Parts: sequence; C-alpha cells; structure tokens
Amino acid sequence: MAFGDSLWNHTAGVDLTPRPPLPGDIEADVAIVGAGYTGLWTAYYLHELDPGIRIAVVEREIAGFGASGRNGGWCSALFPPASSGIARRHGLQAAVAVRRAMHESIVEVGRVTEREGIDVDYARGGTISLARNKAQLTRARELVEEERRLTGPVEGLELLSKEEAEGVARATQVLGATYTPHCAVVHPLKLARGLADRVEARGVSLFERTRATGLRPGELVTEHGTVRAEVVVRATEGYTASLRGERRRFVPLYSLMIATEPMPSSVWDEIGLRRRETFADLRHMRIYGQRTADDRLAFGGRGAPYHFGSRTRPDFDRNERVHSLLREVLADLFPAVAGHEVTHRWGGALGVPRDWQASVGFDQLRGLAWAGGYVGDGVATANLAGRTLAQLITGRESDLTHLPWVGHRSRDWEPEPLRWLGVNGGRLLLTYADRAEARSGRPARSAKAFARLVGY
Ligand SMILES: Cc1cc2nc3c(=O)[nH]c(=O)nc-3n(C[C@H](O)[C@H](O)[C@H](O)COP(=O)(O)OP(=O)(O)OC[C@H]3O[C@@H](n4cnc5c(N)ncnc54)[C@H](O)[C@@H]3O)c2cc1C
Repeated sequence: MAFGDSLWNHTAGVDLTPRPPLPGDIEADVAIVGAGYTGLWTAYYLHELDPGIRIAVVEREIAGFGASGRNGGWCSALFPPASSGIARRHGLQAAVAVRRAMHESIVEVGRVTEREGIDVDYARGGTISLARNKAQLTRARELVEEERRLTGPVEGLELLSKEEAEGVARATQVLGATYTPHCAVVHPLKLARGLADRVEARGVSLFERTRATGLRPGELVTEHGTVRAEVVVRATEGYTASLRGERRRFVPLYSLMIATEPMPSSVWDEIGLRRRETFADLRHMRIYGQRTADDRLAFGGRGAPYHFGSRTRPDFDRNERVHSLLREVLADLFPAVAGHEVTHRWGGALGVPRDWQASVGFDQLRGLAWAGGYVGDGVATANLAGRTLAQLITGRESDLTHLPWVGHRSRDWEPEPLRWLGVNGGRLLLTYADRAEARSGRPARSAKAFARLVGY
C-alpha cells in the first residue's frame, strides 16, 4: 500500500502491525469511524471526561493510515477559513475566539504528548511565509494589516524585511516575509500511532482492517459486523465520500510530499531554519515544508488533480509530474539542496467542504456526530475538534462549544461532472495566477476573486 512510501513511515520506529478487526456485532456507548487525529483525539478526551464510557474505534486500514500519518507536520493555528472569512460570516468576536482556540490547540498537542510520553519531535519555532516576488510582498503586507485590523495583537503576525527573513530562512529571491510564532512541527505518524496506543491502553477498543459501510442512528455498520452505540462519530475526512450517502460532503484533494536524505550541518548553515520553523512562500497554490528532527527537508504542495467522482486510491498518492515539480521548487528555494537525494515521495487525501469551512457537530436527536473539512490544516484543528466533540457528546458547555464552527453545515458539492470541472478549474486558475504574478509582480485579480468565491 502506498502508505508505506512516506518518510514518516520509515522513521517512526513504531510497530505498524494491524490490530485485529472487529470480531462481529458488539455494543458500545460511542462508536467512532476513522482512526486519524479526529477519531483518536475524540476518544482520548471522551475517556478523560468520563472514563466509564465504552468507546469503539473502527479503522479501515491502521491507525494513522490517512492524512494524519502522512502530513507535513505543521501543527499550526491555520484554520479554514482565515480570520477575514470567519469575521465576515460570524463576526469579529468569533474570529478572535477561533484564533485563541487554535493557539491553545498547538500548546495542548505539545502538553498532552509530553504528559503521555509520546515523542513526536515537537518544536515550536513558528512559521515563516516568504514573499519572493512583488505580488507576494504586497500580499504579505495586506495579510499583516488585515489580521491586525481584525484580531488586534492576538495573532502576532509580523512583517519581516528581506534581511530579517533571510536571517530565518536563506531562500532565493526573498523580498520579505510574514512570521507567526504560532506553529510547531511534529512527526505526524508518531503522533497518530502514539495516540492510538494511549487510548487503547485506557480501554478504548480499536479495530483495524475494518471497513465501515454505513452510519445510521444507533449503528455503525462494517464489513465484519455492527457496532451498536448511542452515539456514532464520523471521522473519515478526505475519505468521507466513500461512505454511503456522503458522496458530496467533502472533496478529497491530494497533497503530495517529498523528503530529502539527512543533510550535513554545512547545508543547514546555508539554509537556516535553526529553530525548525515551518516554511512556505506566499504563492496561491500552497507549498509547505519542515526541517525534520533528523535534518532532512520534508516538503509538500497542492496541485495534484482532483479525481472524478471524489475517488481516492493508493496510486493517486504518486504523481511523477507533481513530485518532480516539488523537487524543482525546493531546489529553487534552497539551491544547497540540489545535490542531495530525494529519498521519499508520497501523498494523501485531505477533505474540503463546499464552503471551505471546517466543522464539528453533534446531532443529539439522531446520535450522530462529525468533524472534518479542515482543508489541509487539520493537525492542530483535529485536536480542537476532539476536545469539542467530547464536550458536546457528554453534554457539557464551554467556550469551545460556542465557537462558530460548531454545528456549521456546508452545502453539498455539486454533482459530477460539475464538481470535477469546478475543482480542477480552480486548481488551474491558481497555477496561472502564480505564474502571472511572478511575471508581472502585480497581485492577480482572478485569484482574489476565487478566494472571495470560496469564502477566504
Ligand atoms: C500530504 C498531506 C499534508 C498535509 N499537511 C498538513 C500540515 O502540515 N498541517 C496540517 O494542519 N494539516 C495537514 N494536512 C491535513 C491533515 O493531515 C488532516 O486534515 C488531518 O490529518 C485529518 O485527520 P482526520 O483524522 O480527520 O482524517 P484522516 O487522518 O484522514 O483519518 C481518517 C481515517 O478514516 C479511515 N477511514 C476512511 N474511510 C473508512 C471506512 N469506510 N471505514 C473505516 N475507516 C475509514 C481512513 O483509513 C483514515 O485512517 C495534510 C494532509 C495531507 C494529505
């Protein structure tokens, strides 16, 4: 399975032998489908709030098989949509509340993993987003001004000069950057597997190699039997379309990654990233990278095609064109990398709702709960989702249960072929916008219009 190609898989140093599948029909209080961060954090906090609750988690492959075991490891405060989108839809106070909750989630991931003895290579160095042409520099200024106007000093997003930016990451063509202290790097698979082990040790039943075929009130139906439970939680994110009745809920977008071999200190003296800051530039087609604990660069980007009918398949994790492009972009950013081997290439699916707003919710009457649609920003957000779901399911109320994503429902995606045309059209538009900006130095109006259209 393509999961095996990821860097994380080779460096996690943990046992990936599948746990036994569901043995037949069972009963639980809460049944969760999907053992990624969303499902596992939900189980973790449910148990913390009420150790007596019987929890069963059902996973089609193994815990961490999905995006949670393959991602870029940015445990960031990014939340879809950004503050401007939240402020427009839910008001300024809501935007500030989301910022604070996301900052807290980054700290919480570090705190819990330390307390639980899960070594995830956590380092909180913040994020630098480089401006490498004039249009990106204009965007950097606008982003900083907008965040200050909307959320005041809360975010702490700073504009860096060329010299200051190069002091953090010595990339080529840098004109300036934004910097936020609110991001940590993690080893994503160590986090997923560590969480799975800890919840299991507390008595949560975790069944792997068990595919759910449908969820309905009181029942999680799988190929090996049914889990009868008062509450059923959907935590399948980028794979949700494969569940009966959920085909148009989230579009699975593929994000692809590469990783280099470990590089010597002479290379790192040139590149920087001394505090393991996560890095990107301000192009529209998102790229992201981290310096790993063993001194590699793990680097990814969007831009792989969307597949008709929201299909997800292991061979979609590899795309020669996109993987080569990632290598070129990385060498263009940091020429010192060029002589070093790319040892790993992989990818995975993330979930995008029609209005690009993540959501978490619990329909008490039907006993159905869900979280997801993090649009590629799910590492810290899934922790917030897990804490929130645990409170909603156990009937508690707090600041978390009043955040604007609670109970939010996006409309469904269009049927095919409109969906295919729209998603792939948007992808091409952003690629052309980046090229036009690099050429002209002027922000592309088409990209702004697109951002407004999808609510960013
Ligand atoms: C390449 C890549 C890079 C990314 N980088 C970042 C990043 O740096 N920072 C960030 O914040 N976010 C990032 N993301 C997004 C982030 O990883 C996800 O948003 C997050 O992991 C979602 O967690 P989840 O538990 O909701 O879903 P997943 O981790 O995808 O888990 C869902 C699970 O459900 C299981 N499943 C699906 N269908 C069924 C079924 N029918 N029956 C049983 N089980 C089923 C799957 O096997 C899977 O294990 C990235 C995503 C990708 C793909």
